Amino acid sequence: VTSYTQDDLPPFTATPEAEIPVLHDRVIHKFNTHTTRLLAYRVKQLRQLYWGIKDAEPLLTSALQLDLGKSAFETYISEVGWCLNDILFMLKNVEKWMRDESAPDQSLTNKLMRPMIRKDPLGAVLIIGTWNFPINLTLGPLIGAIAAGCTAVVKPSEVSTNCSRVMQYIIENSLDPEAYQVVQGGIPETTAALKLKWDKIFYTGNAAVAKIISKAAAEHLTPVTLELGGKNPAIVSKNADTRLAARRLLWAKLFNAGQICISHNYTMVDKEVLPAFIHHLGEALQEFQPKGAKGNADYSRMVSSKQFQRVKAMLDNTRGNILFGGNTDEKELFIEPTVIQVDSPQDSLLVDESFGPLIPILPVENLDEAIRLANEIHATPLALYTFGTKAENARVLSQTRSGGASMNDSLFHASLPTLAFGGVGDSGSGAYRGKASFDTFTHCRSVTTTPGWMEGMLSVRYPPYTDKKLKQ
Ligand code: NAD
Repeated sequence: VTSYTQDDLPPFTATPEAEIPVLHDRVIHKFNTHTTRLLAYRVKQLRQLYWGIKDAEPLLTSALQLDLGKSAFETYISEVGWCLNDILFMLKNVEKWMRDESAPDQSLTNKLMRPMIRKDPLGAVLIIGTWNFPINLTLGPLIGAIAAGCTAVVKPSEVSTNCSRVMQYIIENSLDPEAYQVVQGGIPETTAALKLKWDKIFYTGNAAVAKIISKAAAEHLTPVTLELGGKNPAIVSKNADTRLAARRLLWAKLFNAGQICISHNYTMVDKEVLPAFIHHLGEALQEFQPKGAKGNADYSRMVSSKQFQRVKAMLDNTRGNILFGGNTDEKELFIEPTVIQVDSPQDSLLVDESFGPLIPILPVENLDEAIRLANEIHATPLALYTFGTKAENARVLSQTRSGGASMNDSLFHASLPTLAFGGVGDSGSGAYRGKASFDTFTHCRSVTTTPGWMEGMLSVRYPPYTDKKLKQ
């Protein structure tokens, strides 16, 4: 893979605030031409985006390396390849999904009105991305918006600036500039964009900002999709395969150095298998990173000094006992994968989202206690992981809530374009990925067509409402 430095990448400049309403008007105007509704137009834009991403792969790989220290392997499976596969999945299905659907189970009279559901694009949408998977969390929703026939303004994160620069380059060079535009910048630019009336706002990030987004959207009665944060539990029962659980959970924390909204924020382990689980965690750490985390070129760094300080402070403030790791290096924004045994469900490592490579472990008496605590600590997390027998996993699933869940694994449920991705309660509302992405930018418009020849039959509805009509 060719490596680019910061200087090789296209320039990053915040969009002047006065220009944002101009871009907004431009994409609304394009939507009103009705061109973006056409199947041929959607397919052409999706194909162009596919090749735009594919051609820019070396740039994207370098940008992710610069922003997050992300390895080429993780970049491909979770960003570049991910988006390319999502586009192929859309291309395969978009024609089928956009077709009118006739209403099921109709009586004969209803059938005569030809009731159907028309899949209308919502209109001109605003997509606000974030920095941890900057490509897939920004271009992913855009793929859905294009497939649904919407126009869009995309606001990538101001934190992962190298990726934001490359995404602007891709969008500007591969998509119709009248329909798809980029606003670069942080709070002032996003605030300016939020003052405008959109047909949908799609936001990924933290819950505090989601409230700002929701309030701004409410001013225009604009619908929102909110993809929010984690605090996800993992449960290891006394009957779990502890080696398997340790390896799979550890891998999920090494991935992007734990900067994943669906990574497990804390792990509850049945006391009976705690020593075995910890032993296997240590073994897996040694196997996955034989030269240690720092010597491992595949291990990501914290995205910014702010994120580094936040995760380090969590580590400094815990009352827990560090079992593995604990080293940090501010200059390199490095935080070692750190396993901490905590003894209280109130420990800040459990209550707050670490969004970093911290693995707090809380020993529990049994599965009942794990389920009770999962519901008490954060009742509606974005994800949940459970390792146990089939019956145990089924019980955890039926007695908890979460946006999604993987049984006997971590992260996996979010990797399939056939499954919708989204939160529940305060971990988000709305969902996307595959068909769900199409749906999130689509309005299901109910339509009937009443034939003129039915007038005789239908005239019973007109006043005056005589007794005779009532009896008919
Ligand atoms: P962030 O602070 O970068 O915010 C995300 C977006 O919001 C950015 O585009 C940013 O410009 C914008 N923004 C920030 N402050 C704003 C303000 N005051 N007004 C308007 N816009 C503003 O992202 P973050 O909060 O550091 O991201 C981490 C959080 O996101 C975690 O909680 C994580 O779990 C969550 N997350 C969720 C998902 C998901 O798909 N559900 C994915 C990734 C991250």
